[in-house]
Amino acid sequence: MNEQLKQPVTAVKGIGNEMADTLADMQIRTVGDLLEYFPYRYEDFRLKDLAEVKHEERVTVEGKVHSEPSVVYYGRKKNRLTVRLLVGRYLIIANFFNQPYLKQKIAVGETITVTGKWDQHRQTITATQMAVGEQTTSQDFEPVYAVKGKMTVKTIRRLIKQAFSQFGHEITEILPNDLLQKYKLINRRDALRIMHFPSGSDEMKQARRRFVYEEFLLFQLKMQSLRKLEREQSPGISISYELDNLKAFITGLPFPLTGAQKRVVNEILGDMKSPYRMNRLLQGDVGSGKTVVAAIALYAAKSAGYQGALMVPTEILAEQHSQSLTQLLQPFGITVALLTSSVKGKRRREMLEQLKLGEIDVLIGTHALIQDEVDFQNLGLVITDEQHRFGVEQRRVLREKGESPDVLFMTATPIPRTLAITVFGEMDVSVIDEMPAGRKTIETYWAKHEMLERVLAFMEKELAKGRQAYVICPLIEESDKLDVQNAIDVHSTLSFYFKDRFKVGLMHGRLHSDEKDEVMKAFSDNEVQVLVSTTVVEVGVNVPNATVMLIYDAERFGLAQLHQLRGRVGRGSDQSYCILLADPKSEVGKERMKIMSETNDGFVLSEKDLELRGPGDFFGKKQSGLPEFKVADMVHDYRALETARNDATLLVQSEAFWQSEKYRLLREYLAETGALANEKLD
Ligand code: ADP
Ligand code: MG
Repeated sequence: MNEQLKQPVTAVKGIGNEMADTLADMQIRTVGDLLEYFPYRYEDFRLKDLAEVKHEERVTVEGKVHSEPSVVYYGRKKNRLTVRLLVGRYLIIANFFNQPYLKQKIAVGETITVTGKWDQHRQTITATQMAVGEQTTSQDFEPVYAVKGKMTVKTIRRLIKQAFSQFGHEITEILPNDLLQKYKLINRRDALRIMHFPSGSDEMKQARRRFVYEEFLLFQLKMQSLRKLEREQSPGISISYELDNLKAFITGLPFPLTGAQKRVVNEILGDMKSPYRMNRLLQGDVGSGKTVVAAIALYAAKSAGYQGALMVPTEILAEQHSQSLTQLLQPFGITVALLTSSVKGKRRREMLEQLKLGEIDVLIGTHALIQDEVDFQNLGLVITDEQHRFGVEQRRVLREKGESPDVLFMTATPIPRTLAITVFGEMDVSVIDEMPAGRKTIETYWAKHEMLERVLAFMEKELAKGRQAYVICPLIEESDKLDVQNAIDVHSTLSFYFKDRFKVGLMHGRLHSDEKDEVMKAFSDNEVQVLVSTTVVEVGVNVPNATVMLIYDAERFGLAQLHQLRGRVGRGSDQSYCILLADPKSEVGKERMKIMSETNDGFVLSEKDLELRGPGDFFGKKQSGLPEFKVADMVHDYRALETARNDATLLVQSEAFWQSEKYRLLREYLAETGALANEKLD
């Protein structure tokens, strides 16, 4: 950045120390910060035809005063000035609250311009601004800035204006010419000026487009350079697996791989063989067959003399994975062990000893795997399932268990592409986008609570055929306790309902892990036909005989989670059903239920979920890792994001980007804004 722009804000006339402090609270410290403090929206003062204005929308209209305005006083110091206006062919009312003095300015037959909120039913504007005479065209758009503390929108506008007149000419372009030309982007100085002082919406859109691209490009350059750095600084191991044995293993599987499975297996094996450390995200919808892919990778590691680890978020899941991997790998002489917190005492000591000696090839477990006492002999591959449930820190500790093991993160939560390339921008991504053949789609229905009797009758029919059912209880936010109570209540209701005919089990997070295992085993062995549960069964659980998934208060769940829950059924050869019991009040809630009953495709759902909930809520608050953009919007500007990602990838790989004069300003800007990685994330 130009030296002039790096000066503290006090260099701008009219900004003293006190003002500088207020600005600092808004993260504005330098002149450059101030100039780049973008409006978050624009007030639109363009005149509109009232026929096109929606209810509750803000609007500016020009109208002729139809009759003498009147003021009504009510309450203490409260009053309302009412003006009847003829706007085009409409006779409307404009109400001004607590501004009785405006009456003097308004004369019958004159034209005034009024801005406010439009009430379509009452044909009334609740006005906040008024000007006598016709609209002046110079002020079509006014920028609105987020302000804090003592700062007002008016003041910040004035300060930015002053900053511009003093320093505007110092703003220099940072993007190389060819990119500007390629995308027909406005130069930086003009674009900044327009962002703050737009004269029309087209111009404003062009300026915005420039900064959207710039922001995404800078961000992606950061991610891509991080990735490059990772590769250079932490060379991984080259796992030279035995191809012939591996082929025999794959041929020996109980089913042929799907095309998508083959593709991701190749991507993963390529990473493993390369001297770089694998850092790959494997996405695949519930039931798409990720376990087998993991098994193949683990087999490959073992055939090259390395141990592998699989980390999962819950003990139940660890156990299931242990079963299915043992089944797949044991016949080939691979030793699989399960380490959870319930492995104790002597058995635990022995297991850890064997691990250290390399007698265990594949270790499966929960976070128990990353405790200090766990030492591998030669860890070459780490796989985590449902990685978004693990913190960044846990992922790092696990990775440091080996010399520099390859890491594969698996997730069944389809992450919309725009998020995948931002949140996981430094990773490679593989997607299994094809289901094994012959899978029946799960029929999903949305029912109101009043239909519960009919739903239960339907469930009973399935149970009578020898099938099983899950019943998921309301999710009550922030309250594990209430969740449990709900599950207990529903359990007693259903136990009574199915009394003497079917057994109803209960599962929730407050149970001891032994108890959970017991319940799960009883369900798995069909000793219990109906399993009432909180969302603890959400991930991974596999009981193919279960064909009904009933979800209470389904409107409380996000689409991604509903889809996960639904994925617990449809795992066998029988037709399965998912019933969403919900009385959503909001339109968004209804929309969600509709989408769920219309599609089985996790990726479609995740995109919709992102649209409905926005990126902030997508992963839940705790661990979003989402970058904040000033101008750009990941959801709406996703095309620009893709473009910037491709450009950044090419740039970072090119010698010129790191050397040539052409990119000097861009490099400098990146380094100054801390956007060019010289330390590792994660
Ligand atoms: P997820 O991706 O949800 O972890 P799993 O790995 O548990 O899915 O696979 C779901 C089911 O599909 C398992 O019973 C598995 O054996 C089966 N399966 C996986 N791949 C195939 C395939 N290519 N053809 C047929 N069945 C498959
Ligand atoms: Mg799985």
